[in-house]
Amino acid sequence: MGKSANRQVRQGDMRRQTIRWARGFLLAVLVVALVAGVMATWPSARGAAPMVGGVRLFGALFPLAGRHIGIVAGHSGSDAGAVCPDGLTEAQVNLAIAEAVVREVEARGATADLLAEFDERLSGYRADAFVSIHADSCEVDLSGYKVAGLEDARNSASARLVECLWREYERATGLPRHPDTITYDMSQYHAFREIAGTTPAAIIEIGFLKADRDLLTRQPQRVAAGIVAGIECFLQNREQGGR
Ligand SMILES: [Zn+2]
Repeated sequence: MGKSANRQVRQGDMRRQTIRWARGFLLAVLVVALVAGVMATWPSARGAAPMVGGVRLFGALFPLAGRHIGIVAGHSGSDAGAVCPDGLTEAQVNLAIAEAVVREVEARGATADLLAEFDERLSGYRADAFVSIHADSCEVDLSGYKVAGLEDARNSASARLVECLWREYERATGLPRHPDTITYDMSQYHAFREIAGTTPAAIIEIGFLKADRDLLTRQPQRVAAGIVAGIECFLQNREQGGR
């Protein structure tokens, strides 16, 4: 073996050693970061002073963690609902919004069920919040949204869910309130009587397919955000002892 070959072997050894050392260091950094991360965000760490910040961060990132939410895509699996002259159906608008709401609440830590209008699971259905999503006629030139819940003194939580949806949906979409057109189908919504009596429930008509079409079909994220904010408003108030 010549001089230069020897030097190459030595350099090779050094390089390998450096790589080994760097790997070990990286691994140690990763382990420390992981342990720190788990300790900072561990939900059961509530109360331990140094971890409060971590718990808050966890709460901010996953405000719906541990919650179970049911979302009905109005008319899905059943019929088209309202239909526009060009073929746009209420069912397809409802489904796009309902899917966006489910994605968003799941991203915030909740588990969610996307339910059909006459879903088998509705019977005795239990959840922390239940919202059915519908849209209004394509025939009239009206604009606005409305929310209704089951008028039942036993479930005042539903009334608060309805209030939160009224407020947050308005804030997110800027649509006017349209309480005058709340129909029997809304206030006596069939699913209200099928789900468990303890499940807070509401139905929202997200807008009219004619006048509010642009918002409903081109800004589904904004529409969904209004519903998600309503659900979150309700669940957070309850945590503060509102029930
Ligand atoms: Zn409908």
